[in-house]
Amino acid sequence: MSSIRLDVVTAERVVFSDDVNIVVAPGVEGQLGILPYHAPLMTTLQTGELVVRKGGEEFSLAISGGFLEVRPDRVIVLADVAERAEEIDLERAEAAKRRAEERLAHVVPGIDAARAEASLHRAMLRIKVAERRRRRTTL
Ligand code: ATP
Repeated sequence: MSSIRLDVVTAERVVFSDDVNIVVAPGVEGQLGILPYHAPLMTTLQTGELVVRKGGEEFSLAISGGFLEVRPDRVIVLADVAERAEEIDLERAEAAKRRAEERLAHVVPGIDAARAEASLHRAMLRIKVAERRRRRTTL
């Protein structure tokens, strides 16, 4: 099966780097599937799940914002924030979700609702990605 190199990096670190068979990324206009030999492309990412398949295995990453570039020999994701499923601290994400929900339930002057919504969205994504991994590993 043909493969393409995927590099997922943030300003701080390399989050994922490997040869993979397919990448499904959260593009601003919807899910974007990339197979080897995909045409060159540059797009913006939104908060969402990045799914990678390699051999019979599937990995998920939580991604928040950034860019994706398809080059002839590789896919580069430069994300604002990215975590592999196994790096996600579920309790921290649950606490962030509760905090954001609390803020949105009592919006008062000085509370930035859009920021609380973005935080809630990131927390829910982290919970989804972490729980999906847990289900996969207990199958
Ligand atoms: P929190 O309120 O818990 O800090 P946040 O959504 O504000 O969450 P971000 O600003 O998105 O956090 O991320 C800050 C840094 O912390 C990033 O490096 C991100 O990868 C990491 N991070 C945030 N939440 C988690 C988590 N639940 N598990 C692992 N790393 C996390």
